[in-house]
Amino acid sequence: MNTLESNHDRDDRAAGVLLGAACGDALGVPYEFAARLSEEEVPAMVGGGLGPYAPGEYSDDTQMAVCIAESLRDHDDPRSGPALEQTARAFLTWRRDGATDIGAQTARVLGDTERALADDGAGETGAAEAMTRLSARMFGAGERSAGNGSLMRTAPLALAHLDDRHQLAETVRVYSLLTHGDPLAAQACVLWCEAIRQAVVDGSDEGPRSGLDLLESHDRDTWAGHLAEAEDSPPRAFAPNGFVVRALQAAWSAIAHTPVEAGDRNRYAAPVWAAVRAGDDTDTVAAIAGALVGARWGRSAVPEEYLAAVHGWPGYQADGLAKLAGEIVRRHGG
Ligand SMILES: [Mg+2]
Repeated sequence: MNTLESNHDRDDRAAGVLLGAACGDALGVPYEFAARLSEEEVPAMVGGGLGPYAPGEYSDDTQMAVCIAESLRDHDDPRSGPALEQTARAFLTWRRDGATDIGAQTARVLGDTERALADDGAGETGAAEAMTRLSARMFGAGERSAGNGSLMRTAPLALAHLDDRHQLAETVRVYSLLTHGDPLAAQACVLWCEAIRQAVVDGSDEGPRSGLDLLESHDRDTWAGHLAEAEDSPPRAFAPNGFVVRALQAAWSAIAHTPVEAGDRNRYAAPVWAAVRAGDDTDTVAAIAGALVGARWGRSAVPEEYLAAVHGWPGYQADGLAKLAGEIVRRHGG
């Protein structure tokens, strides 16, 4: 394969990350917290759900991912103060103006941050600093801090670090800790982002195992066990899946139990349908799975009818999401 072809393929996979997540999200929206679909039922982008959403409209998962993606598009160093501040401010703006629904933990941390900023008459408090501090305090107080809300929005970070998996892991931790003080959430994001990174770079389907070495040594066996459990049990075994470990297991189980090949028409859709059939937090599990499946097979594998329908806050459609993915890759030298 010549360089031009391989660049084209990689750009296709990069676009597939955001489009795969958004289409998974929109496919899962109608079934969130509703009766679980049977193995024969095929999810459809009919809208409804918690919003209620229009057909094809994506939800909080992709809305928050877009906040991160735009910051990565606008800044050279994702961990710099300005980049983190733009993301944190975008989360707050989204909560006020765009959030069609919002997870309990994220709502709590963003609400606390809003109040902390309002209490600071001098306006010297940074939103990112306050958000990270308040989520850490929540975790320190023993409150539930390992929801799936940072994993659902983490995929764009892979696009800003295609050449450096260690830098990716560092950045992912920082972005997870904005709202999720529990290191478990960050660990899940590291594994998933590294799987996405590798899939974009070379079409790998190795999955989240490839990132185990990026975790602290004492966490590797635990996560290897979580992944083995996902490979052994069907997606529905991991519902309820609001806990980040269960959400990752449900998404990985859906992919691992749905073998597809390059020529398959449903190579993107079939694993994502399996993720929706996991039940419970269907849009989030399908957004998580969709980001990795989209990274593996690219935009060109996502059905045209999904690309034509997908849309959401703050006004993106498929072409805009694909363009955003390309801009992140180019800015970060991938
Ligand atoms: Mg959602």
